[in-house]
Amino acid sequence: MITSKEIRQSFKDFFQSKGHHIVPSAPMVIKDDPTLMFTNAGMNQFKDIILGNAPVKYPRVADSQKCLRVSGKHNDLEEVGHDTYHHTMFEMLGNWSFGDYFKKEAIEWAWEYLTEVLKLDKERLYVTVFEGAADENLERDDEAASYWERYLPKERIINGNKHDNFWEMGDTGPCGPCSEIHIDIRPENERAEVDGLTLVNQGHPQVIEIWNLVFMQYNRKADSSLEPLPAKVIDTGMGFERLCMAVQGKLSNYDTDVFQPIIRRIGEGCSATYGEDARKDVAMRVIADHLRTIAFSITDGQLPSNAKAGYVIRRILRRAVRYGYTFLGMHEPFMFRLIPALIGVMGDAYPELEAQQMLIGKVMREEEESFLRTLETGIKLLEKNLPEEEGGVLSGEVAFQLYDTFGFPLDLTELILREHGMTADVAAFNAEMRKQKERARNAAALETGDWIKVYDGEPEFVGYDETESYAQILRYRAVKQKNKPFYQIVLSRSPFYAEMGGQVGDNGWLMAESGEKIEIFDTKRENNLAVHLIHKLPENTEETFTAKIDTEKRTATECNHSATHLMHEALRDVLGKHVEQKGSYVSPEVLRFDFSHFQKMTPDEIRKVERQVTARIRSNFPIEEHRHVPVEEAKTQGAMALFGEKYGDDVRTVRFGSSIELCGGTHISSTGRIGTFRIVSESAISAGVRRIEAVTAKVCEDYLYAKEDALLEIRNLLNNVPDIMQGVHRLIADNEEMKKELQGYVKEKTVQLKQLIIDRKEVINGVNLFRVILPVGAPDVVKDIAFQLKGEFPEKMFFVAGTASNGKPGITVMLSDDLVAGGFHAGNMVREAARLIQGGGGGQPHFATAGGTNADGLNAAVDAIVLQLNKF
Ligand code: ATP
Ligand code: MG
Repeated sequence: MITSKEIRQSFKDFFQSKGHHIVPSAPMVIKDDPTLMFTNAGMNQFKDIILGNAPVKYPRVADSQKCLRVSGKHNDLEEVGHDTYHHTMFEMLGNWSFGDYFKKEAIEWAWEYLTEVLKLDKERLYVTVFEGAADENLERDDEAASYWERYLPKERIINGNKHDNFWEMGDTGPCGPCSEIHIDIRPENERAEVDGLTLVNQGHPQVIEIWNLVFMQYNRKADSSLEPLPAKVIDTGMGFERLCMAVQGKLSNYDTDVFQPIIRRIGEGCSATYGEDARKDVAMRVIADHLRTIAFSITDGQLPSNAKAGYVIRRILRRAVRYGYTFLGMHEPFMFRLIPALIGVMGDAYPELEAQQMLIGKVMREEEESFLRTLETGIKLLEKNLPEEEGGVLSGEVAFQLYDTFGFPLDLTELILREHGMTADVAAFNAEMRKQKERARNAAALETGDWIKVYDGEPEFVGYDETESYAQILRYRAVKQKNKPFYQIVLSRSPFYAEMGGQVGDNGWLMAESGEKIEIFDTKRENNLAVHLIHKLPENTEETFTAKIDTEKRTATECNHSATHLMHEALRDVLGKHVEQKGSYVSPEVLRFDFSHFQKMTPDEIRKVERQVTARIRSNFPIEEHRHVPVEEAKTQGAMALFGEKYGDDVRTVRFGSSIELCGGTHISSTGRIGTFRIVSESAISAGVRRIEAVTAKVCEDYLYAKEDALLEIRNLLNNVPDIMQGVHRLIADNEEMKKELQGYVKEKTVQLKQLIIDRKEVINGVNLFRVILPVGAPDVVKDIAFQLKGEFPEKMFFVAGTASNGKPGITVMLSDDLVAGGFHAGNMVREAARLIQGGGGGQPHFATAGGTNADGLNAAVDAIVLQLNKF
């Protein structure tokens, strides 16, 4: 049997033989596209080229791309596990032509690869072509159909509508017809009974789409009209796991060697065999699938968290844990134990899995543990809110709360309800869900107008060397976000750094010769294009302007960025080489750095890191910067790079002394200018990942002054003692002494008070009643007396005390055991009486206390308790 590894390689070899440059997969987590959280198709990493923001380096490219379809336009999550051919994370094999070959070759090679290289049965293949759309004035894609006719009979070339066969990048932008290849993998007898043609695009699990060839030839404008695209693009995507299923003669993706080793491990862990129980099979597929998603998103730098992309990942993990919990009886963390099996299957193609095995394991395990706890709390909440009667209906709001805060999908809630013969109000649940989606959409909505071109030209970034430059506006467009309108402009020559790699974007001004001065309030990067944000357009957009950055902020940011590099190196020296960057944020005020490390840093380690960084600052290393270094060379020089980071083939290296990093950010000219550096906090952000916040330069100076001021203030409070430490120690010692003295007094007082209470003993119905009202609240003293009385009067003892301190009333009751045996219950008594002081309380049958808010009711409350004695 041809293995999945061989299939992946054969795809790359085939397209290499057709002149394609093979590129690595981009990370699955996307950082510079405001419209997308995760890579959901092979074309994402080429979006900047397709949009014309980046030059075409290789006109023919092919790869295998990690994709994730769990949010936004492509969301397959609910299908996953229930069907056998949709995954959350999957690999998409693809080939591209940027202005080079078009439909003829794309079709010819797809056919050649499937039928000649992989030898799939031609009789089982079907293709679709775009049928045209009258409302858009588009005709049928006869061109594509004519090429297909060379290989297939006409009846297996099926017309498809705009929904299935016209691809669009978004509301605007490149688009065009597409042609899909479907395969019928059913057994021969089934094929003889039902013609495969009738099952294409009908959701049959064994008559499925495997490859989509997109022919981008139009550009959709904001008014929704189409114009021809100057450079046509071929973009194809084939599901790797589906292809393996077809080639290996299996009926489900999960039966291939991509998943079987993982499924076997799951089965071992819960003593179940795949294929014996349909519900367990779904759970095993869900777990096998989600395991990959979580492991890869962690290696790509997206850890589970509370917000945005991190929350999506957290929910996927919870979905897997929940299926394991409900259907496989897994009540302990188990997913982290599957990682070795995953590495066995995918470790060769994706070495980052093994390199970060420990981190993935820690994160998964902790997430699993905490969700299992949540799961139990959620089940309790659900049980508390169960409708009273059999056949009752749980409110949609509670069902939604369970979903939203506890991660309970509706079907889990329904399952638990069913066990009690109940149901949930599904309509109300769905209404809540719609409301939430609406809220999310409004928050994220970004409306963009068409780009208005002013001048031709390529934007140039000059911010590594210059802080101001002449500039023309190349193009601009109006944008609205959360209903706030502003403009994006692209400049011909700009010193403004556009936010990337954690460094915030520059702000500054655009100045016209007329004296008009426009604020640039931020600079962002969208698909590799630097866009400057402004609130109002200049009067004349065709002028030549001066673009000038706010140098004070820039310098402060640069101090923090360069210090981040020095600190990264120091952390690896002090803590070990397992330290890897997991995220960073650099602003004028602070630097934040997330890194893998498995325990809290000790004060000593923190001090060592600070000392190393400040020593390098004093060494005043000048920056050594190389703007075009081949990646491999940079790595051999020892440059620290993020795993799975997307870089061009040439990279920029930044060196200060022995610290070398791949970095596109801006830096200070020599380390001495950083001045000074301190770590202000070190904390955990998730299992295995720590976060440091640190400050430099003036902010650091202010931070240190604030500490000095605090010390001065303490000294003032200590009457200006010459030695503060001595003063504080004396204060503590004095305090200890006084506490001891006080305890002595309290003891003495307790003895006196107890005697007083005994002297005033009453006897009612043969019971010794001790009752007292104290104008102070001394709970320890009262409790102490209560227990002493119980010791001294083991029979027929009834003690009740009312206390009040600062208007806050309290009640204490103690009963001897024979009274309890006779039916008295201290807890019930105080609970009842507490109403009179507008409070609450309770306790055991022999001892109980209550507190309240209305001291005026204290006498009445004590009397009410004493009245109980009449029942004796
Ligand atoms: P489907 O209709 O089956 O969901 P699609 O139309 O969403 O597929 P495309 O967006 O055209 O698929 O993606 C290209 C190829 O990627 C598909 O032909 C298929 O082989 C594969 N693919 C798409 N979604 C998934 C998924 N969730 N899991 C695995 N493979 C997928
Ligand atoms: Mg789909």
